[in-house]
Amino acid sequence: TTTVELTGRTRVLTVSNQKGGVGKTTTTVNIAASLAAVGARVLVVDLDPQGNASTALGVPHTADTPSVYDVLIDEFPLADIIQTSPESPNLLCAPSTIHLAGAEIELVSQVAREHRLRTALDDYLERLDERLDFVLIDCPPSLGLLTINAFTAAHELLIPIQCEYYALEGLSQLLGTVRMIQKHLNPRLYLSTILLTMYDARTRLAQQVADEVRQHFPKEVLQTVIPRSVRVSEAPSFGQTVIAYDGQSAGAIAYREAAVEIIAHDTAHQNEGGS
Ligand code: ADP
Ligand code: MG
Repeated sequence: TTTVELTGRTRVLTVSNQKGGVGKTTTTVNIAASLAAVGARVLVVDLDPQGNASTALGVPHTADTPSVYDVLIDEFPLADIIQTSPESPNLLCAPSTIHLAGAEIELVSQVAREHRLRTALDDYLERLDERLDFVLIDCPPSLGLLTINAFTAAHELLIPIQCEYYALEGLSQLLGTVRMIQKHLNPRLYLSTILLTMYDARTRLAQQVADEVRQHFPKEVLQTVIPRSVRVSEAPSFGQTVIAYDGQSAGAIAYREAAVEIIAHDTAHQNEGGS
């Protein structure tokens, strides 16, 4: 393993796209595992009631597991729910449980409902004696209060885009929500990274979609594209990321390259002025 140039501050990325099945969870866990493999300390916050990120990281998340639900609704300290993935001592996970499905509604009547994750995370980072290089937040496929909590807590937005028809559909709604968040809740949030996922090099369509997204977002789209790969989709059923499951597969190699780009692609200094 190589050691990487890390900045010393914690970069908080929310992995969001209100479309389901575009590779949010796959991207979150595999980027996190890739970052951990090069020596970064990484926390994954699983904000999806389905708990797929917790599963892929091999972290128990049955109904009685203390989870992000307890943090958001009952103000548990984040430190009390965090588990370490069996994959790496550098890879931490704040698991989701099925209770989180109710949080979307329960949050509506709570004080500071949009800031609950941010407050918990700030509190956790302040008390931490070890460094933490990255926090990756895996969002559910909606623009509800859970996703808004992620947008309020994050510095950076990472959008996975699936290389298929209608790839750009819904993106303007997503970016509109981001502008609303910047204006009212979190001026430091910005779109830092777009990752093209499930790329099938044999189809012209994938190429066309990739070209189109790069035209719209020349600075944000990573050079690396994630190929469609059976190994990537098999890994979660073994409670593993593809980095651990088959580190030499094309998908694992691509995710590791994307992670290196994310480390280098630290554009926060171009976007200061928020906080
Ligand atoms: P989301 O979190 O956006 O709903 P997922 O990450 O769960 O999306 O991915 C949706 C489905 O596509 C999952 O079954 C996942 O295993 C599969 N998948 C994601 N990325 C790839 C890939 N690169 N190759 C093959 N299958 C993939
Ligand atoms: Mg998901």
